[in-house]
Amino acid sequence: MKIQAAIARSLNNLTVETIELDPPKAHEVLVRIKAAGVCHSDLHTLRGELRATPPIVLGHEGAGIIEAVGSAVTRFQAGQRVMINWLPACNQCPTCLGGMPNLCERFPSTTFQAILPEGTSRLKTEDGLQLKHFLSSATMAEYAVIDESGIIPLADDVPFDVAAITGCAVITGVGAVLNTAQVKPGSAAAVIGCGGVGLSAILGCVLAGCNPIIAVDVMASKLEMARQLGATHTLNGREVNAVEEMKKIVRGGPDYVFDSVGAPSTIAQAVSAARPGGTAVISGMHATKVDVPIPAGALIFQNKRLLGSFAGSAKPQVDLPHLLDLFRAGRLPIDKLISKHYALDEIATAFGDMESGNVARGVIVF
Ligand SMILES: [Zn+2]
Ligand SMILES: [Zn+2]
Repeated sequence: MKIQAAIARSLNNLTVETIELDPPKAHEVLVRIKAAGVCHSDLHTLRGELRATPPIVLGHEGAGIIEAVGSAVTRFQAGQRVMINWLPACNQCPTCLGGMPNLCERFPSTTFQAILPEGTSRLKTEDGLQLKHFLSSATMAEYAVIDESGIIPLADDVPFDVAAITGCAVITGVGAVLNTAQVKPGSAAAVIGCGGVGLSAILGCVLAGCNPIIAVDVMASKLEMARQLGATHTLNGREVNAVEEMKKIVRGGPDYVFDSVGAPSTIAQAVSAARPGGTAVISGMHATKVDVPIPAGALIFQNKRLLGSFAGSAKPQVDLPHLLDLFRAGRLPIDKLISKHYALDEIATAFGDMESGNVARGVIVF
């Protein structure tokens, strides 16, 4: 079928065009996309900074309605509301069975190569250029073919835009707090970097009853959003020495410091700021490209812990419905992260707004 999609034909070459989508195979589902979150990972991919490179259909956060199912799909049917899980785990490998489906053994050869779990693509341009599916999802398109392991049912009262961003930014930030760090209620916490992931970490800290919750960023607009979402203190890293200030607010430093940036400087800040015996958690994707010098003395002599967190250490099939139940109960205001909606052909503007720090999270709606 012919669909409109946001694609990177080559590095930094972003277009919205009509492309060809082949029908789902036996274990796949065709989803009519209603909302697609705009994420830094999409922009990194457009620029060739992640493992999957163009030509590619962008987008990995999404929600919509099932249009058709493959011949072997029994759990889902046409007309059903669903969200996309860009970590379509096999649920059979030792890592999955060991309780870490976010690290499934098949991702490096499938999802991170931007092909479907089955091993191929359903997408091509009208002039015959084969396109990849970013993170086995390719949600910045009117329709997407998704492996059934990448589908999660969605309750009728959860808006599509809320579901879309929950699958990436929200689970990464909230999961770093609840799953990776497993913070003790009432702990002192700090969050470095207040983009979609960092703001979600703040929501996670609120849910975990943290106090204080210190937000660190270099943009005043993001610090304002952090305060609205529950940060008790904000620090502009360009204006003050954030580590020193954190230790002034909390004697010895916060119990937990969450770095959603992942730059060498912010990782060092997180380790330095955590109190003796405290924990630094790194979830920022910048870290995937750099070797970072670690202040190892602090880890040993001050008994600190440094933890990595990928996709919030989540079990998506369990954790995503759980987060959306918390949203429905009014305990996790995910909708407050959404500052702007865009049409698909406004994708360049959406990326620009994200880079300028004007939005917490932007969502493309169809
Ligand atoms: Zn697996
Ligand atoms: Zn994302």
